[in-house]
Amino acid sequence: TNDQLAKWDRESFFHPSTHLGQFARGEAAQRIVTGGEGVFITDRDGNRLLDGFAGLYCVNVGYGRAEIAEAIATQARELSYYHSYAGHGSEASITLSKMVMDRAPEGMARVYFGLGGSDANETNIKLVWYYNNILGRPEKKKIISRWRGYHGSGLMTGSLTGLDLFHRKFDLPLSQVIHTEAPYHFRHPDPTMSEADFTAHCVAKLEELIAAEGADTIAAFIGEPVLGTGGIVPPPAGYWPAIKAVLDRHDILLILDEVVTGFGRLGSMFGAGHYGVQPDLITCAKGLTSAYAPLSASIVGQRMWDVLMQGTDENGVLGHGWTYSAHPIGAAAGIANLKLIDDLGLVENAGTVGRYLNETMRAAVGDHVHVGEVRGEGMLCAVELVADRDKRSFFDAAEGKGAKVVAAMLKRGVIARAMPQGDILGFAPPLCLTQAEADQIVAVTKDSIAEVLG
Ligand code: PLP
Repeated sequence: TNDQLAKWDRESFFHPSTHLGQFARGEAAQRIVTGGEGVFITDRDGNRLLDGFAGLYCVNVGYGRAEIAEAIATQARELSYYHSYAGHGSEASITLSKMVMDRAPEGMARVYFGLGGSDANETNIKLVWYYNNILGRPEKKKIISRWRGYHGSGLMTGSLTGLDLFHRKFDLPLSQVIHTEAPYHFRHPDPTMSEADFTAHCVAKLEELIAAEGADTIAAFIGEPVLGTGGIVPPPAGYWPAIKAVLDRHDILLILDEVVTGFGRLGSMFGAGHYGVQPDLITCAKGLTSAYAPLSASIVGQRMWDVLMQGTDENGVLGHGWTYSAHPIGAAAGIANLKLIDDLGLVENAGTVGRYLNETMRAAVGDHVHVGEVRGEGMLCAVELVADRDKRSFFDAAEGKGAKVVAAMLKRGVIARAMPQGDILGFAPPLCLTQAEADQIVAVTKDSIAEVLG
């Protein structure tokens, strides 16, 4: 019964990313989700909700896909598990490696499978350090990340994440991590700065940091093609090629964290191609299996691969792996998921319906006195709420305006995400969203903003 589940939840379940006060007050789970079909989920209280955030921007093909469920069941019956250490593989993991590399941008050489975005980023940082040790430059180890970047919540990845919440009281960031300016034009204090000037400003900030720290101490730069959890912020024009030019000049590797953008969310297979930038490492997770099973991928570029291969000697075993690396069930889910993305044309749909969502959202709420900006790319959209449009001032965080609008939307049957930093409504629906469903999201957003902000 619901009462029994609520009691067990109160007594037993330590939920992640949840206000500790909820446990202290003995409150039960907010919502018990029981099913999903397409872009809708259902809960035990009988609600049917349009999931405008695809879980945590991960259920890209939508809920209830029988093809993936069947693939998982078949794999579990045939071979539920075998490890991938010491050159072992399964049919599923080898097949998926081929499918990932067929889709990866040019210049990438191999894929290493893990479980989630955080561990894939840990893998990528370890590979960067290993690479520089092979090259005999052990002092070149620092990693540059951006404020507002999100890269996970492990010790290293929580350090890379440029959000105070993930550092405070955890004694992070680790000393090898340094942060540079977020490419967040709207939040820059000088509103007269053009987008092109803002790109130049971000590049100058990066140059300053490199000069202050010394290029020979810096190994890599990590960034999401579009800032995600930090506010859903597409980069200003020309940002990635300009940043890449700086990195090349200082022999600093580029890690593109495509956990959100990989496999179609921007309307392109990867953000690397979308923004015309060549990474040395790509981090993938969510869209790889559409979250039907946990699986991540660290895709290694040729320049690093060539050096890693030189590093093999009699002690050349890579001391890095997990029991569940390349888990066959995750791999089976990945194969079925990537096939569905192709068969249903979901990369194209993310581009066309994503553009429609952004345009209709802008037309519906862009002129509201408390909307500062509607921005997005592909199937990502954000509505930034402001106290005063002209002054570009923000509400007091304690007022929780964004969370109130999201709660008003929920009453109307649509899930948006109150982004954790600032009053920003975030949208990242499944890539199979239709125009009619986009219309529903936009109408509910408009009515809910009117209800909460007038
Ligand atoms: N990188 C990015 C860009 C993410 O958005 C996330 C999760 O939201 C992660 C890494 C961490 O992935 P996970 O939660 O699977 O560890």
